[in-house]
Amino acid sequence: MSIVAIVGRPNVGKSTLFNRLIERREAIVDAVSGVTRDRHYGKSDWNGKEFSVIDTGGYVLGSDDVFESEIDKQVELAIGEADAIIFMVEVESGITGMDQDVAKLLRKSRKPVLLAVNKVDSASRTNDALEFYNLGFDKYFTLSSINGSGTGDLLDELVKILPEQIEREEETLPRFAVVGRPNAGKSSFINALIGEDRYIVTDIAGTTRDSIDTKYNRFGFEFNLVDTAGIRKKSKVKEDLEFYSVMRSIRAIEHCDVMILVFDATRGFDGQVQSIFWLAHRNNKGVVILANKWDLVEKDNQTVKDFEKYIRQQCEPFTDVPIVFISVLEKQRIYKAIETAVEVYHNRSKKIKTSVLNETMLPIIEAFPPPANKGKYVKVKFCTQLPTPHPCFAFFCNLPQYVKEPYKRFIENKLRGQFDFTGVPVTIYFRKK
Ligand code: GDP
Ligand code: GDP
Repeated sequence: MSIVAIVGRPNVGKSTLFNRLIERREAIVDAVSGVTRDRHYGKSDWNGKEFSVIDTGGYVLGSDDVFESEIDKQVELAIGEADAIIFMVEVESGITGMDQDVAKLLRKSRKPVLLAVNKVDSASRTNDALEFYNLGFDKYFTLSSINGSGTGDLLDELVKILPEQIEREEETLPRFAVVGRPNAGKSSFINALIGEDRYIVTDIAGTTRDSIDTKYNRFGFEFNLVDTAGIRKKSKVKEDLEFYSVMRSIRAIEHCDVMILVFDATRGFDGQVQSIFWLAHRNNKGVVILANKWDLVEKDNQTVKDFEKYIRQQCEPFTDVPIVFISVLEKQRIYKAIETAVEVYHNRSKKIKTSVLNETMLPIIEAFPPPANKGKYVKVKFCTQLPTPHPCFAFFCNLPQYVKEPYKRFIENKLRGQFDFTGVPVTIYFRKK
């Protein structure tokens, strides 16, 4: 899926536009309650073309007085990671020095850029926008993110310039993305996997290669590794920027079947690790969590259990996820990690026969039916797994609108109990029959 980044200095209206682009879908997709969602990353579509949107500004802390250099880094990363860029400026303050810097960086890049002049809330401001020709782009779009005017024209052009989505041929090899915060041990893990001392890094920060998939045949498994390590080694980017690891992760996660989330057990499963975890969940990818550097952790016979419990608490409600305690340094359980990823891959592509599904689930539903609503009873007649890349189940009934989230959660847990879906998000639909 294509990735669109919105860049620009603070307060031009990036997040307002971002929210507008994703909100229609959020309403439909994010029926999952209680899940922390990333406020700066989401999916949108226009004229039937789907794309991911990143609000780069959202990843800068205290974005009111950001240093210019921070913005430059963001823009550099956006150039590296995105397929198209919306460069936002605003008409109230006109062109600023920061706008000019960003424009310079963007003009040098070969990425398609759409210049969006925001806060053109009324016709009288249209003329004021003319000065933005001075930024050196062929044209610009005027819009008002607040009331939505002008966004249609921008989106028409955007979907025109996005690369055509290349349909992957029926791919049989699992695609694993190794992601995590800087210094978690990703490159070391990959080195251990490919059995080479050195990891070849690309010279320029944010260089995107056409394909980030590399085929491996190791430990008797064949898989493609979607890699996020390596490139950063020579980048100018400050290593602990949350923005950095999230940006890096988005594309890799979108291109994988299973995310292998490596984190440093001595630092904990913190907020930044969690936001990567939820990226995979939102994209319905399989997940394996690797608690690395286990050699550094002082242990007794309770430690693994306690640590596991602590991680699962952070993953609520998606807790049916495998956690492997590894030490890349001591080559501990590296094989187990890959084996687990392969299992999760199979869980994700598992198809339950309709007859088996009905024989298993209908008696459970009969014994524990959805609660009656205004004296009306929901009767489930039939269920089936949908032919989607990740497990989706449709339950056909008379009154789907009465089935609420807790009951769906209950059904999901029963499914997980009966059939192994460890590491995989499961979607439940109730539909009218
Ligand atoms: P960001 O820092 O670039 O993400 O900017 P925000 O989206 O947070 O917006 C900054 C301010 O500009 C907020 O007070 C918004 O309400 C306001 N704003 C955003 N879009 C528009 C617009 O189209 N017209 C006007 N008048 N204000 C806007
Ligand atoms: P990346 O940024 O996620 O690719 O992390 P690296 O692979 O570059 O590792 C960061 C640092 O952690 C390096 O100094 C590694 O030697 C060290 N490291 C990686 N795995 C382990 C481990 O299992 N145990 C210990 N003690 N150190 C590790």
